[in-house]
Amino acid sequence: MLQWAVKAKVRGLHRIGANPMVTSRELGKTRLPLWAAGFVALICVTILGLSVWREWETRDAELRSAEIDVTNLAHSLIQHADDTFELTDTILVGLVHRLELDGTGPDTITRLQAYLPTRKSSERIRGIFVYDETGRWLATTEHVNFSGLNNSDREYFRQHRDSPEKGTLIGRPIKSRAGGQWIITASRRIDHPDGSFAGVVLLTIDTAYFAKFYERFDFGPNGSASLLNNAGIMLARTRDESGSFVGRDLSNAPLFRDWESRPAAAVYYFKSPLDGVQRLSYYQRSSHYPLMVLASKSQDDVLAPWRHAAAARMIFVLGLVLLIAMIGFYLVRQLSQRQRMAQVLVAKEANFRLLAEQSSDMVTRIGLDNRLLYVSPACVRITGWPAEELLGTSALAGIHPDDMERVEQAIAALKNGEAEEARFVYRQRHRDKGEIWAEAALHVTLASDTGEIDGVVAVMRDMTEQKDLQDKLAALATTDGLTGLANRRAFDERLADEWARARRDGTQLSLLLIDVDHFKKFNDHYGHLAGDACLRALGRILSTQARRPADLAARYGGEEFAVLLPNTGSDGCADVGEGVRQALHDLAMPHAQNPASRLVTASVGAATSFPSQIATDCSTLIAAADRALYAAKDSGRDRLVMAGQVVPWPAKSA
Ligand code: GH3
Ligand code: MG
Ligand code: MG
Repeated sequence: MLQWAVKAKVRGLHRIGANPMVTSRELGKTRLPLWAAGFVALICVTILGLSVWREWETRDAELRSAEIDVTNLAHSLIQHADDTFELTDTILVGLVHRLELDGTGPDTITRLQAYLPTRKSSERIRGIFVYDETGRWLATTEHVNFSGLNNSDREYFRQHRDSPEKGTLIGRPIKSRAGGQWIITASRRIDHPDGSFAGVVLLTIDTAYFAKFYERFDFGPNGSASLLNNAGIMLARTRDESGSFVGRDLSNAPLFRDWESRPAAAVYYFKSPLDGVQRLSYYQRSSHYPLMVLASKSQDDVLAPWRHAAAARMIFVLGLVLLIAMIGFYLVRQLSQRQRMAQVLVAKEANFRLLAEQSSDMVTRIGLDNRLLYVSPACVRITGWPAEELLGTSALAGIHPDDMERVEQAIAALKNGEAEEARFVYRQRHRDKGEIWAEAALHVTLASDTGEIDGVVAVMRDMTEQKDLQDKLAALATTDGLTGLANRRAFDERLADEWARARRDGTQLSLLLIDVDHFKKFNDHYGHLAGDACLRALGRILSTQARRPADLAARYGGEEFAVLLPNTGSDGCADVGEGVRQALHDLAMPHAQNPASRLVTASVGAATSFPSQIATDCSTLIAAADRALYAAKDSGRDRLVMAGQVVPWPAKSA
């Protein structure tokens, strides 16, 4: 059997041809690339998201740490401010007490003038001043000639004069009349024994003292520490070499706008109205004095190291994400391309399968082990077996034994690469019809990966009808229509073959030439149809007399016949010739115009040759038989004349 499969692995696609409702999954089209792209995107977004989150956490931690720093700093600074103003308070209280007891007479003032410098022992104190109720200077630690100086225009003086309040008044920073630098004033009212206003004791602190103290701490390149009073007036500030910040009124700054509702101390983020720098700070109010300290760091300074490290880390992460995205994109594209290719392939294969399965020819494929890998449905019509029963069986099963060798050789040549295609006609067993003639066209198939021969594809069709027709045509071409014997052409071919065979084998070959006697007259007398019947009757006699399978009776032309007798000697030849003559005679067909017997008779010329002994062609044998026939005619007809052993033409016959 010769049935070859298209491809075993596409067996599952068999349904495509039968069922047009093929799902997209079966066509190789899935949402896998979409899922893969989504997965890659998710990974990228997750990595980015986690990195940003982590960086944000780190940023937060940096800010928290900076907050702790400024909180600690603010605690120290407010403690320092409290200590400073407590000291001034102690001095002021002492002086006021003494002046109220001793009065402001010249003796007291002289003693005071000598005493004051001893109270200015601390570097925090810039100067101590005593004014009478008119604002006139009474005593001071400054080494200046103060006769004639009057401070009644100063705000602190007016406040003490106008208010009976005895507490210490911390004033706005002012420019010192004595030294020209910024100073903070702390003052107390002196009362006469009757409680009326007797003057003011004033103590000044250089704002630079605070600034200098604050410089000892590290606030970063753009950080600052400020001392303010509760009204929002800047008393001292770091990084204020030109003194431009001291005395500024910041009561409109957001920190002071809702001052009352704010806690006494808190972390505070703000954009400085002084230098526009975004700061994180901690402010703390004094629990004893109307003061507050604001320790701040620039947010940029705090975050700068984090920014650098985060930028480096993010560049790395972005690079990684970019790499993943690129690899992902490449893989997804590959996946899509493969899917598209698979779709095209599936569609192509479906088309080919459709062609194979709808074809009236049987399409098969066999592997190198001659097993059937695919069989198209036409196998039922051509072999009688369904495809399921044929798959896996030998492709050579059912081939006629006489054709087997030829088919095997053709397949072997294909498999060895000696030929790319082969075409042959052979006999094949059919399940129900017995035997059919089939034509097969074979092509080798190459493995797509290695390019090596991996099998054979065969297309076969039932040739029985064509073969029958062909046989009929062949028979017509070699048969005489009237008698059914071989015609002259067939006789000539057969004679040449037998002649060659006899020469080869060294056997004898005999020939009879038979000619009906006075047949022209028979026709003339009985008519042409009767003549035909007569020739048919002679034909039957010849068929009967030439009994051996190798014998050939032929109509040689007109009313002349020939009988070829291979492997027959002159005796056998004479027997057959005489048998023919006698049989015709015995048939006793009337022939009024045949003077000898009034029956249809025939003359027979016979010749026997030994072809191996003569180097001539078969015309010698014909010529000898012909001469014998003439001799039979000449010697009275209705007889057999043997030519004897044939000798080369044109030698005289015996
Ligand atoms: P002879 O005894 O010498 O052979 O004389 P003959 O008349 O048989 O010889 P001839 O060759 O002169 O005549 C042959 C005749 O055979 C002529 C032709 O009319 C007749 N003939 C040839 N072929 C056919 C045929 O197919 N059918 C019929 N009815 N007659 C044929
Ligand atoms: Mg004749
Ligand atoms: Mg004749």
